[in-house]
Amino acid sequence: MYRVDGDQEAARLREEMVARQLAPRRIRDRRVLAAFREVPRHLFAPGAGPREAYADHPLPIGEGQTISQPYMVALMTQCLELAGGEKVLEIGTGSGYQAAILSRLAARVYTVERIASLAERTGDLFRRLGYENISIRVGDGTRGWPEFSPYDGIIVTAGSPGVPPPLVEQLGEGGKLVIPSGSGYSQRLLVLERRGEKIIERDEGGCVFVPLIGEYGWKEQG
Ligand code: SAM
Repeated sequence: MYRVDGDQEAARLREEMVARQLAPRRIRDRRVLAAFREVPRHLFAPGAGPREAYADHPLPIGEGQTISQPYMVALMTQCLELAGGEKVLEIGTGSGYQAAILSRLAARVYTVERIASLAERTGDLFRRLGYENISIRVGDGTRGWPEFSPYDGIIVTAGSPGVPPPLVEQLGEGGKLVIPSGSGYSQRLLVLERRGEKIIERDEGGCVFVPLIGEYGWKEQG
């Protein structure tokens, strides 16, 4: 692995992000906070300077897509309650930042992106950073990634009109599925947990995501 992030200024900005944006809000999981101190977010935000990359809002990453606000990435990650040995599926690789955070907290991360150019760029970055426990696939993530199921956690980082049935099917016992669900303009962050045949659901509040486009999501325009 070669180290891309030797930048002390970026490390300072990460400390500030954790202290000002995450710790004072609802982020209490110490492993999650440690992952945010470690992963060099500025390398996942093309075109943004370091200060902008660590600011309290989403940023454009090209192809009309975004890297989510640090707090939203942290909240969704915390909802999975990872201990370290899990297998996690992410839908919506985008910049790869969320997958990189998950890769520090779980044993293995599988991530699906529908836009090939984003998946290619992000795959290159994972290789440069030596994040070897992440696998990327280009495709429609609303169908999940059945080959490696069941998953201990599934996280959807785009807004869906509902919960895609294949994702529920691919969730293992005790596993949690975190998904923004609602209209094209605003959603509720839902956490579903499998307990035997039962699915327990809770609502973690409002959020705004770009649309999840696919067979069990929104239909592509035009
Ligand atoms: N997790 C990303 C990150 O850390 O940068 C955030 C990505 S952005 C908010 C949502 C991503 O979901 C976009 O890259 C978009 O192309 C992707 N997406 C939308 N529908 C998808 C689908 N059906 N399957 C896979 N990816 C999808």
